[in-house]
Amino acid sequence: MKAVYTARKLPNDGVRNGWYEALPPPPEARRVTSTVTADWAVLGAGACGLAAARRLGELRPDDTVAVVDAMRVGYGNSGRNAGFMLSHHSHGGIKHLDVARQADRLFGCGHAYLRETVETHQIRCDWSDWGQIYVSASREGDAHLNAVADGFDALAVPQERIQRDELEAITGSKFYTAGVRVQGAALVQPAAMMRGLGATLPANVALYEDSPVTELRTDGAFRLICPDGEVVAKQLILTNHVFAEEMGFKRFRVVPLGLFASLTRPLSDDERRHVGNEEQFGLLPASPNGSTVRLTVDGRILMRNTFTYARDKRFAADLIEDAAANHRASIAKRWPALEGVDLTATWGGIMAMTRNEGRVFGEIASGLHIVLTTDAAPMTRGTACGKLMAEKLCGIDSEELRFAEMIPEAAILPPDPLLRFVANRRLDKIERSEPAER
Ligand SMILES: Cc1cc2nc3c(=O)[nH]c(=O)nc-3n(C[C@H](O)[C@H](O)[C@H](O)COP(=O)(O)OP(=O)(O)OC[C@H]3O[C@@H](n4cnc5c(N)ncnc54)[C@H](O)[C@@H]3O)c2cc1C
Repeated sequence: MKAVYTARKLPNDGVRNGWYEALPPPPEARRVTSTVTADWAVLGAGACGLAAARRLGELRPDDTVAVVDAMRVGYGNSGRNAGFMLSHHSHGGIKHLDVARQADRLFGCGHAYLRETVETHQIRCDWSDWGQIYVSASREGDAHLNAVADGFDALAVPQERIQRDELEAITGSKFYTAGVRVQGAALVQPAAMMRGLGATLPANVALYEDSPVTELRTDGAFRLICPDGEVVAKQLILTNHVFAEEMGFKRFRVVPLGLFASLTRPLSDDERRHVGNEEQFGLLPASPNGSTVRLTVDGRILMRNTFTYARDKRFAADLIEDAAANHRASIAKRWPALEGVDLTATWGGIMAMTRNEGRVFGEIASGLHIVLTTDAAPMTRGTACGKLMAEKLCGIDSEELRFAEMIPEAAILPPDPLLRFVANRRLDKIERSEPAER
C-alpha cells in the first residue's frame, strides 16, 4: 500500500549537552547522501534504536542494516540523561505487581546487554557498578522513601537502609535524612557510552548521522527520505521516540515530559572536600519533586530537576535559564560552600510517559515495527525492548520477549489542549509540593 508520512517536526535538542561537550569532537559523520539500500532500516539511533540495530546485525550477519539519525549519536536524549543504567527501580505505589515484575525483568535484560557490549568493546564511558541510593530530605520525603522500599520488597529486590550520618559521609551534605541503597545499577557518562555503542556496531550495520528523515514513503519498500538522499529497506523499525507521533504513528500514547540537567565544572581539590569521601555517587529522589544528583568521576556535580510538558519538543532559552537557577539553588542547599560554583551547561531533554506504564512495542503494518522507550528506567528498558524487537523479528522467543508483550498497550490519552492542561496542572502540583526535597 502506498502512503506518505511527513515529519511535522524534526529533533532539535538545543545547543547544549554538557556530557557531549565534555568529549573530544567526534569523527566526521557518515550522512545519507545517495540512495542506500538495506534489508532493514532503523529510524533513530538512541539507546533503543542502537540495541535493535546491533541485535539484528548479530542475528542476521548476511543482512544489511541501516540506522539513521537526525543528530550525532550521543547528542540526543540517550546521551543527555543522568547516566543511571538501572537494573531495578521502584518509585513506590506499585499498582500492578505483575506488570512491575515484568518491567523489572526488562530493566535487568537491558542492563545486561549494555554491560556486555561495553565490556566486549571496552567502551570508555566511566561505567561503574556504584548502584543507586534513593534519598529523602524531609518527613514527606521519608514517606516516599518507605514506599520505594516497599516496592523493592514486593519485587524481592535486596536493599539496604542508609542512615543520615552515612549519607553525610558519602555526600558531604547534611541535607539528606534517609536513604535506600540498591546494588546493580551502573553510573555512566551517557554521551560517551552512546558514542561508543554507535562506533562498535557489527560490520553489517551502517550508521548514518546528521540525516533527518523528513518523510517516510511506503510503496512496497520503506523509503526514508533525507535532504540529500534516501534509505530504502524491506523492513523498518521505528525507534524515534517522541518523534514517531510527529510522523503520525501512535499519536497521544505518550506524554512528552521535559527534564533538565546541569553539570558543574570539575571541582577543585579544595571544593571536593565538601562532597564526601567517595570517588563518585548517584542519588535518585524518592519524592517526585526531588533532584537526581551525581558526583562524577571527574569531580563534577550533575543536578537534575524541573519539569515541563514538552509537546513542542523545543526548549526556550528562558526555560533553560529557569532550570539553571533551580539547579544552582539545589546545589547551594546541599553544599552551601559550593554556592555559585559555575555550571558548564544546562540542557533539556524528553522522556515519554504513558498513563498506564504501558508499552509501545509491536507491528504497525506489514514490515513496519515500532518500539518506543517509555516510563521508568528508560535507558535499560529501551535497550531491552530494542533488542527483544530484533529477536522477535528473527523468530527468537524468550521469557523476556513474552514479558515485553504482556505489558498492556499504552493507553490512549486525550488530545491537546486537554492533555496539555491536565499535564501542566499535574506538573505544577508536583513542583509546588515538598519544596524541601528539591
Ligand atoms: C535530563 C534527563 C535525565 C534522564 N535521566 C535518565 C537516567 O538517569 N536513566 C534513564 O534510564 N533514563 C533517563 N532519562 C530518560 C532517557 O534518556 C530517555 O528516555 C531515553 O534516552 C530514550 O531513548 P530512546 O532511544 O527511546 O530515544 P532517543 O534517545 O530520543 O532516540 C531517538 C532518536 O531518534 C532520532 N529521530 C527522531 N526523529 C527523527 C527523524 N525524523 N529523523 C531522524 N532521526 C530522528 C532522534 O534524533 C534521536 O536520536 C533522562 C532524560 C533526561 C532528559
